[in-house]
Amino acid sequence: MTNRNQRIESIAAQATEWRRELHRHPQTVFEETFASDFICSKLTEWGIPHERGIATTGVVATIEGRRNHSGRTIAFRADIDALDVIEQTGQPWASLTPGKMHACGHDGHTATLLTLAKYLNDTRNFDGLIRLIFQPGEEAGKGAHQMLREGLLERFPFDEIYGYHNWPTLPRGTFAIKPGPMLASVDVFQIRLHGKGGHAAMPHATLDVIPAAAQLVLALQTLVSRETDPMANAVLSVTNLTAGTGAANVIPGLATLTGTVRTFNKDVRDHLQSRMASMVKSIGIMFRLTAEFDYTRLIDPVINHAQETEYCREAAAAIVGPDKVESMEPIMGGEDFGGFLEQRPGAFIVIGQGEADPASPHNRGLHNPGYDFNDAILPTAASYFAELAERRLAID
Ligand SMILES: [Zn+2]
Ligand SMILES: [Zn+2]
Repeated sequence: MTNRNQRIESIAAQATEWRRELHRHPQTVFEETFASDFICSKLTEWGIPHERGIATTGVVATIEGRRNHSGRTIAFRADIDALDVIEQTGQPWASLTPGKMHACGHDGHTATLLTLAKYLNDTRNFDGLIRLIFQPGEEAGKGAHQMLREGLLERFPFDEIYGYHNWPTLPRGTFAIKPGPMLASVDVFQIRLHGKGGHAAMPHATLDVIPAAAQLVLALQTLVSRETDPMANAVLSVTNLTAGTGAANVIPGLATLTGTVRTFNKDVRDHLQSRMASMVKSIGIMFRLTAEFDYTRLIDPVINHAQETEYCREAAAAIVGPDKVESMEPIMGGEDFGGFLEQRPGAFIVIGQGEADPASPHNRGLHNPGYDFNDAILPTAASYFAELAERRLAID
C-alpha cells in the first residue's frame, strides 16, 4: 500500500507537467490530435500496446497483469477534449490557442489515466487485463457513441467500466457517488414554424408565426408540469426563440425554437419526445403553418450499476477513508459516459477538487473561463483507479 502510494506520488509529480502541457494545447471534438499524439508518445515510451484512431483521435491501451488466469478485463475511461471558451485563468500554462480551453478538466482526467497506465505497467499486480480508454468528443456528447459504433466492445472487450469527473464544489479528496441515475440524458431539439410574412398592418394577408411560437412555448411547458410524474425528474427548456428582423412593421414568415430536454428516465424521455412532436404538428394545423421538428438524443443518462457502485465506494474509502465518500445528489447535467454504462456494468464517480480559498481557480465551476484542474488530486484519482483495478482483478 505504502509502496503503491510512493510510486503513484512520484508518477503524479511528472503527471502535473503532462497535465499542464495538455492544458496549453486544447482542442475540441474529434480534433484532439495534440492529446492523442501526447498519449501515444507516453504509451510508446513505456512499451504499452495501444491502438489509435478510434473515433478519429481516441486511443485504447491494454495492459496485461502479472497473471491472466481470471479471463476478466476492467476498463477505465478518460475524456480528452476541450471547450470553446476564452481562457481567463492567467495561469502560466494557460491555453496557447485563443478561444479553446480545457475548462472541464479533461486534461486532468487524461493525466490521471496516464499515471494509472505507468503504475499498472510497472507493477502488474493484477490477474487479467486492463483497458485504458482515452475518449474524444465528450463535450459534444458524441465520443462515447462513436467509439462504440467503431467496434470498441468487439475490438477491445471488457467486463466492467469506470470513470470519474473532477468536482469543484466538493472539497479536495472527497468522493461522491450514488447507485442508479446520477447524471441526466441530454437531448436537443429544433422547431421551425413556416408561415407567410407581410405587412404588420395587414395580418389577415399573412400567416403569422409569432402567436403560434408563443403558444407553443407555453404548451411545451405543460409537458413537464402536467404530464410528467412529479416524482420523476425532467427539464424542458426552450433556450432560443428567433423570429423577425427587428422591424416593427413586418410580420415574419419563420420562427425557430431550439432547446434541450433532460431526464433520467427512459419512459419520460420517450413520452416527452413523442408529445413534443405531436404538439408541434398540432400547432402547425391550428395556425395553418408548416411545422418542422428535429429531435436529437445526444447523451444517455449516467445510470450507475448498483454492485459496481459499491465496488467504487469501497475502493474510494480505502484511499481517503469512508467519511470522505459521500452520497451524490443526482444532477441534470450530462456526461456521455452513460453510453458505456448502457452496454456494460460500471459506475461513474466524482472527486472533489475544491480548496479552502474561495478565490481558488479550482473552485470555479466547470466550463467557467477562470476554472483550472487541481493537480493535487492526480495521485488521489490515480490511486483510486489502481485500488479498484487491484480489487476487481485481485491475485489470490
Ligand atoms: Zn464539460
Ligand atoms: Zn467534463
